[in-house]
Amino acid sequence: MRTEIHPRFANQPSLDRAEAIVRSCVHCGFCTAVCPTYQLLGDEADSPRGRIVLINDLLETGRVTEVHETHLDRCLTCRSCETHCPSGVAYTDLLDIAKGLMLEQPARSKPAILGRDVLLRLLKWQPLMRVGFGLLRRLPTVVRRRFNLPVIRTSARGSGKVGTLPIEREVILLGGCIQSAATPEVNEAAAALLEVAGIGVNSIKREACCGALAYHLGRHDEGRADMRRLIRQIEQAGDTRQPIVSTASGCGISLKSLPKHFEADDPDFTRATAIAARVVDVSELLIGENIAVAPSRVAFHRPCTLKHGQGLGDELAAWLTQCGLTLIPLVNPPGCCGSAGTYSLLQSEMANSLRERMMTSLTEHAPDVIVTANIGCQLHLSSGTEIPVMHWLELVWQQYQLGLSRG
Ligand code: SF4
Ligand code: SF4
Repeated sequence: MRTEIHPRFANQPSLDRAEAIVRSCVHCGFCTAVCPTYQLLGDEADSPRGRIVLINDLLETGRVTEVHETHLDRCLTCRSCETHCPSGVAYTDLLDIAKGLMLEQPARSKPAILGRDVLLRLLKWQPLMRVGFGLLRRLPTVVRRRFNLPVIRTSARGSGKVGTLPIEREVILLGGCIQSAATPEVNEAAAALLEVAGIGVNSIKREACCGALAYHLGRHDEGRADMRRLIRQIEQAGDTRQPIVSTASGCGISLKSLPKHFEADDPDFTRATAIAARVVDVSELLIGENIAVAPSRVAFHRPCTLKHGQGLGDELAAWLTQCGLTLIPLVNPPGCCGSAGTYSLLQSEMANSLRERMMTSLTEHAPDVIVTANIGCQLHLSSGTEIPVMHWLELVWQQYQLGLSRG
């Protein structure tokens, strides 16, 4: 497809990239069948191929319409299309560019724009999030169910002093802004398990956001500013050889992709590249460790950011089994649970439909617990089931302690 970029977008460096990505799509349609929104709605405009055509239209006309916003807003950025595209189309990069353009000249109403701004401010306001999630935990389950709110269960608090090896190396463990407010037990479990494996943990005080929240809403400058802040904090956190460990797969993919958010002549491009090269998902450190846990029947939900974003999940599943957990097979697992960052808040109807489909698959064989690897998925899934939903780190730590207590 040949794109004649509208003069309104002249001199925007990202537009050359957008044009190249649009051109790389050969319209084969292999991606449509694996796109969760196309599966749900059956509309070509809600498929990856249809969205690429819409973005091409936006680039050529220089005008954002409600049609562009409707169908591009519905995209989950799950990356399933990228995983299955034989031509290597960098779809999410293209969507990010389009979101920036949609923000410059929006078709949506002023209240809708304001609503998005307020949502972003609230989500990034750490003290408020801590208080909010603290109150949420205290609400009776019946109230949380009535209002479709997440159910956060308090899991075993971490202490890695039982059966630990001597500390032989150290890492920087990132808290993640929403995760550290909603489920601090996840990082406590991570720290405890890493200590069990002989890995010491350093953390960052008042850790900045990784930038994903703002960036994926099209606020590229704000997202980049968050990234620059976090880059500086990490650089000041000590030894530059220490791996940087993420326990939320959404933050992990954002950090591993840091360099692509900076132009090559940006002074922070090299720093972002150096930081990204050190980022690992916590599973990449723990897999291979000999950790035996008490048994439990588990449905393992693989977040898109782990599976498609980081190409991880299979080895983790094998390791969880090796630890002593029984991973039950999932029946026709759909692509995405519908969480997708702010998606579950901005597109709640679609998100709830996707969650229902995911729940049918996860609960078919009545597991004791559902585990996932990302805070957004954990909160979203937990609001749709009576079965406990945990981060896999919480479960492994809980069952490890249970195993020790049983001798
Ligand atoms: S699979 Fe790739 S090349 Fe084919 S239509 Fe989808 S994005 Fe385009
Ligand atoms: S990122 Fe996911 S929802 Fe968006 S077009 Fe690709 S497959 Fe569909």
